[in-house]
Amino acid sequence: MHMVKSSNIGYPRIGEKREWKKALEKFWEGKLSEEDFSIEMQRLRLEYLNKQKDLGIDLIPVGDFSLYDHVLDTAVMFGFIPQRFQHQEKTSLQTYFDIARGNDYAVASEMTKWFNTNYHYIVPEIQADSEPQLIENRLLSYFLEAKEKLGIIGKPVLLGPVTLLKLSKGYDEDHFPVLLKKLLPHYVQVLQELESAGAEWVQIDEPALAAIRNKEEVKLVSQLYQTIHDELSSMKILLQTYFESADRYKEIVSLPFDGIGLDFVHDHKENLAAIKKYGFPKNKTLAAGVINGRNIWKANLDDTFTQLETILTKVEPNQLIVQPSCSLLHVPVTIHTEKELDPLLKNALSFADQKLEETKVLTDGLNHGRDQIENKIGEHERSLTALLSSASRNNQDVQKEMQIWKSLVPKREVPYPTREEIQQDFFNLPLLPATTIGSLPQTREIRQGRLKWRRGEWQEEEYQEFIKSNVREWIQRQEDIGLDVLVHGEFERNDMVEFFGEKLEGFSFTKYAWVQSYGSRCVKPPIIYGDVTLTEPMTVKEITYAQSQTEKPVKGMLTGPITILNWSFIREDINRFNVTKQIALALQKEIRFLEEQGIHMIQVDEPALREGLPLKPEKQAEYLKEAVYAFKLATSCVQPKTQIHTHMCYSEFGEIMEAINQLDADVISIEAARSHGEIITDFEKSAYKKGIGLGVYDIHSPRIPDVEEIEKNIIRALNVLSHRQFWVNPDCGLKTRGMNETTAALRNMVEAATYVRKKI
Ligand code: GLN
Ligand code: ZN
Repeated sequence: MHMVKSSNIGYPRIGEKREWKKALEKFWEGKLSEEDFSIEMQRLRLEYLNKQKDLGIDLIPVGDFSLYDHVLDTAVMFGFIPQRFQHQEKTSLQTYFDIARGNDYAVASEMTKWFNTNYHYIVPEIQADSEPQLIENRLLSYFLEAKEKLGIIGKPVLLGPVTLLKLSKGYDEDHFPVLLKKLLPHYVQVLQELESAGAEWVQIDEPALAAIRNKEEVKLVSQLYQTIHDELSSMKILLQTYFESADRYKEIVSLPFDGIGLDFVHDHKENLAAIKKYGFPKNKTLAAGVINGRNIWKANLDDTFTQLETILTKVEPNQLIVQPSCSLLHVPVTIHTEKELDPLLKNALSFADQKLEETKVLTDGLNHGRDQIENKIGEHERSLTALLSSASRNNQDVQKEMQIWKSLVPKREVPYPTREEIQQDFFNLPLLPATTIGSLPQTREIRQGRLKWRRGEWQEEEYQEFIKSNVREWIQRQEDIGLDVLVHGEFERNDMVEFFGEKLEGFSFTKYAWVQSYGSRCVKPPIIYGDVTLTEPMTVKEITYAQSQTEKPVKGMLTGPITILNWSFIREDINRFNVTKQIALALQKEIRFLEEQGIHMIQVDEPALREGLPLKPEKQAEYLKEAVYAFKLATSCVQPKTQIHTHMCYSEFGEIMEAINQLDADVISIEAARSHGEIITDFEKSAYKKGIGLGVYDIHSPRIPDVEEIEKNIIRALNVLSHRQFWVNPDCGLKTRGMNETTAALRNMVEAATYVRKKI
């Protein structure tokens, strides 16, 4: 008899070969009719369901599928459609995409990171007086579709009201209880309709609960779910949490649910400790997320099985569900499409489909005895050990160097105020120096040049000449525009992590291992599987060439250790901060190479620093300490006259301000054009004294800002920041912008800087 059940929380939307993405984009381009688009989407949805059924999963999610984003789905379902997208003669599908992508008349809703992942959701816009209404029970349609077409009794997945509201903007904290109350009847209706249609379990995702700690709110949540519970008769509700351990374990597990999903992978097994300590309620089901839904390694089935056995000392088998730790949205679809990977690595990998196989194996083991799955356990163990003992993970040089650094604290030779003087003497820059963030427009021609070289249609020499001519042209153009610090333009780079990963040892790249980043945009994160090391200079050729073309300083351009870490899949046999340190040491070498070649301004980008910040405040300090350490390990070896820059692409600095200061970068540039007011306050409050470039115009749109507008932005910043520390630069890199609009915008920027200089 099957007692323990297997389940899945969510399946990737994009398809093995990104069919989903392709269909979406074709539809947007008008090359696919709405009808054909819907047919294709249904085909994919059913294919995914069938696949999960074939893999033997008992509780298959429905409604996790989305045409863009599940947060947007939920907001639209409850009628939260921003005013500017209403009253238009559009189909609901068009309105849905308009909210996500904007249209000719209205800007899209904001997009932001889904907790600490690299997935972005559309931020719902909800006002205190918004009146939710149930527009369409999309879960019911998905549930019925699975039932009628495939005979699958799916498990509908619904983003919970607490998380929906916590992720929204446009209302005051004080209105949270009122809005929650208004939403309640509509959630109840959705659930009752599912119950009548024959659903047995519904999964309500409430990852935001991990961060709820105030007693009042816990009470509110408890009352809310009590009402939901009372309104249903037979259908069971599974409250799903993920990414971190559930805070207030005791209170959370005693909430009025039939089951609770806990993440046993993250947070150093705190949920396991809590279960051991406090036990688990007798009348509830535990959905144990034991397979890592955020990384791509095979599970150590031996350990995981033991973990499940420990859980079974506190929970009856018929109370237990085995599942991944979170939605498999965050991992690629299947390893089978990778034909060219080194078998040593490939054998140690597990993507979404393989993770479901693992889930099933573990469930079988629990139901039929460990001996039934001994083969699988052994197979996994052998693959993992083979990689572990491979030369790539045992690089003596790297390990010796790590050892040496263990007892050293990276630190600049002289403190900032002294450095500032030395650097001012050395560079002799005007006040409010004007510069850019690094990348310059990547025209079609540039992208095609890179492609030809990759395909082997161009010889190395021809390609190098091509890059040089672009650098040359743009150095000239930057001089004409009047910028004070120039860049080489990053024409040789397609992606700021991939470029470095391809040059470093210890990284591997897949062909099809895409994951959704936002909407139809997918990324293919590199895999850091071995010790990271630098064998030869990565950027010196292009930067020194650029420098040879001008008297003005050219900034070297590198991607920082934390960003490389956060945008890759990383090995788990060593602490992740040791991976960061290895990357930092490789960058340290690169920085030395650049310095030796006379490059004394070097920018180390950390756009993803904030992204890895743990959700719980008490965990943030360690992360920030390690991030600061890695950045300094990479950068602090330089001479006092060498100026270290850094760049970050976001605007919420409040709680990380102290860490930003500790990076001890001589100049920081940040994305500020869209949030001027708040960000300046952060820097003002912390009395930040080093160089700072607040983006003075927004590069995310093709609009050319005029001189006056930029001037205003500069002056506004100078009310708070000293003109001695202020740099003038755009918001972010310019690679997505066109040539002409960029030239015009930069000209206006320089002109604005020149005006303001005269006034101070
Ligand atoms: N130097 C990079 C660029 O200009 C920085 C990109 C980023 O901040 N994401 O493109
Ligand atoms: Zn940026």
